[in-house]
Amino acid sequence: MISNGGTYIMTVTVESYRISDTVSRFLSRPRQLLINGRWVDAASGKTFEVVNPATGETVGRVAEGEREDIERAVRAAREAFEDSPWTKMTPSERGRLLWRLADLLEQNLDEFAELETIDNGKPISVARFADVPLAVDLFRYMAGWATKIEGNTIPISVPYAPGAEFLSYTLREPVGVVGQIIPWNFPLLMAAWKLGPALATGCTVVLKPAEQTPLSALRLGELILEAGYPDGVVNIVTGFGETAGAALASHPDVDKVAFTGSTEVGKLIVKAAGESNLKKVTLELGGKSPNIVLKDADLDLAIPGAANAIFFNHGQCCCAGSRLYIHKQIFDDVIDGVAKYAQKIRVGHGLDPKTQMGPLVSHDQLTRVCEYLQSGLSEGAKAVAGGKRIGDTGYFVEPTVLVNTRHDMKVVQEEIFGPVVTAMPFEDPEEITPVANDTVYGLAAAVWTRDISKGHRLARRLKAGSVWVNCYNIFDAALPFGGYKQSGWGREMGHAALDLYTEVKAVTVQL
Ligand code: ADP
Repeated sequence: MISNGGTYIMTVTVESYRISDTVSRFLSRPRQLLINGRWVDAASGKTFEVVNPATGETVGRVAEGEREDIERAVRAAREAFEDSPWTKMTPSERGRLLWRLADLLEQNLDEFAELETIDNGKPISVARFADVPLAVDLFRYMAGWATKIEGNTIPISVPYAPGAEFLSYTLREPVGVVGQIIPWNFPLLMAAWKLGPALATGCTVVLKPAEQTPLSALRLGELILEAGYPDGVVNIVTGFGETAGAALASHPDVDKVAFTGSTEVGKLIVKAAGESNLKKVTLELGGKSPNIVLKDADLDLAIPGAANAIFFNHGQCCCAGSRLYIHKQIFDDVIDGVAKYAQKIRVGHGLDPKTQMGPLVSHDQLTRVCEYLQSGLSEGAKAVAGGKRIGDTGYFVEPTVLVNTRHDMKVVQEEIFGPVVTAMPFEDPEEITPVANDTVYGLAAAVWTRDISKGHRLARRLKAGSVWVNCYNIFDAALPFGGYKQSGWGREMGHAALDLYTEVKAVTVQL
């Protein structure tokens, strides 16, 4: 399929592809919900279709869970949390289970990569080298923590009890039943980010995958049973946000809800939590991350770095480097380099091993990104690469670089969640920091410079949960990830995440 991108020609290879027998078998019948250790139909009997975004074709069906299914899943999670083999398990046993889950996932890496590609559209090479290994690592990292969730002993000096002696200490206890609502951009990895700390700390879970991408979580559910998790510890309810998701967020017997998704839905989650039982809430939300290229940057690093910052995962990353600020003396060189990079990206079916960028996840997402492109172009931005949809099969969009942008444009202010970067020149690095920070979001930022002191200084001034210097999109299970401002509450990964899955209990004994 060929499309004139205005300034260039791009080849899209939606070739015939073959789904493996293993994945075909998995897709051959409607997948059910995992409740209390058993696979069951939705109470209503309803199912919904799973679409391959590269072709728009239906590849399978999954159960459509709703309020009643959430009700059953929360009940199972509550029972497992209060009185089950899970509550009696030692930390070491919990750690070993997580490690076993990681091993099983690793043994099935190819199958998971394929499921992720069919469901989300991402290139199979990316799913193989990033999504699945990162999920495996996360489970292993959290397995190690299971035996290290410790309290403190605290010397106290109670003024109204002169002469009395006390021993005070804290316990860290699992927060309880956790509702986890995850998005479609990294379906398996987001499930791992959520399940890892919950299972390390001894919580029980009701997981709701995104309706666009339910497959890998359901396959992971099979591995969770195979690993030997007791019934009810992990329950998986596929379904839609407004029904299953909303029922979970507002459930009075859920102790915490952990959400990753849009800031708009994040606000609904907070409201639902407040109006039900004031459950704990953690949120990992949107972003509009600034990527700053200083005059002294090594352009051999910065140009591909800036391109990857936005085009990785088709721009469908909450931390995508979507606002590119370039020193004016090197602006033309950097833009020229990033535009050429964009034009060389092989866009196509994710199962084609040569594909570097797949389709957007859904027709809705395609419409949304195309509307943003229209808005930017009509407000005076110019596309030096890309600028429109590719073809009319699947949900492909050209990797796009917009120049002549202004700070007040919608494309500069709002999260597009597609392969679209806006670029602007600047003169004084001191002046660019307030511009970079002038956003409701604060998830990530990056600086490219040969002067490492400047890099450190800017890192301190940028209001973002992750700052990368001379790199971008570097993730590790040990590194906390989350947002300032409207990019979220709390952190995923690292030991920071564990704190958010535990309650602190202060115990004082008079001696
Ligand atoms: P996007 O707009 O990128 O699809 P969303 O924030 O809508 O992202 O979705 C992220 C997750 O939140 C998905 O699992 C979705 O089903 C869920 N969700 C959507 N709306 C609600 C809601 N009102 N309450 C709870 N969960 C929701």
